[in-house]
Amino acid sequence: MSFTQYRGRIAPSPTGYLHLGHAQTFLIAQQRANTKKGQLYLRIEDLDRARCKPEYVAALLEDLKWCGLQWSGNPFYQSQLDYLTSLKTLQKAGAVYPCDCSRMDVFRALTAPNSIETEPIYPGTCRSRTSISSVSNWRFRVPENEEIRYYDKRLGWQSAVAGRDFGDFLIWRKDGLPAYELAVVVDDARMGITEIVRGEDLVKSTFRQLLVYRALKLNPPDFFHCPLVSDQEGRKLAKRDGAFSLRELRTMGSPPPQLEANCNRATDL
Ligand code: GLU
Repeated sequence: MSFTQYRGRIAPSPTGYLHLGHAQTFLIAQQRANTKKGQLYLRIEDLDRARCKPEYVAALLEDLKWCGLQWSGNPFYQSQLDYLTSLKTLQKAGAVYPCDCSRMDVFRALTAPNSIETEPIYPGTCRSRTSISSVSNWRFRVPENEEIRYYDKRLGWQSAVAGRDFGDFLIWRKDGLPAYELAVVVDDARMGITEIVRGEDLVKSTFRQLLVYRALKLNPPDFFHCPLVSDQEGRKLAKRDGAFSLRELRTMGSPPPQLEANCNRATDL
């Protein structure tokens, strides 16, 4: 399937209330879709059943509308979609291997690694494992020392070296759930997304995702990573900073957030 018209998406996770940082990113996504006379879709990233709550889904729908965001059709819910076929393709291609190390990685795998803390690189303990238990987590084997490059529509050329800047990453959890890095690629491809607009804390994930696109023989979309919104101390806003939640602002009588000047400037339209 090939799409010639611009198709963007906003992809919140209902693990808490949305904050000003989300609003900025989503307003930029909306503006880019409008400028290109394209469509904008809403995908609710609710794979993490333990952390995603129905009340956060209801809240985010309300908060997005308050910000004036409009999307085409019904929202997509990741919890209702199939990812197993793609896991099987990766297994057949030998792109992934079973791995039961690192409980922390497994715990974190379902949500986007938005934190700017440096993540430890997986040492490759299970890479040459021969015994495959029927229930395992699956990890993507990155091509050691290969430089991965892509052109970011806001940041310009970006590059990272596999195995040095990021290591083998989780693709599937043994409880039957796809990791964020797989789910997001499969969904952006099946939704025909032509440009991904999201926060710049996900640049490192983009390199991983480019490898997943390649292993699944899919064409990657364009990428536009937005600046992050910080608080007065210069810390990136996080959902735990409830004071900045959109609902808090609305209750306080603030007007809906507007696009900040220049935050959407592209290196290349
Ligand atoms: N659901 C992710 C988040 O809330 C966004 C992932 C993406 O845009 O690829 O950070």
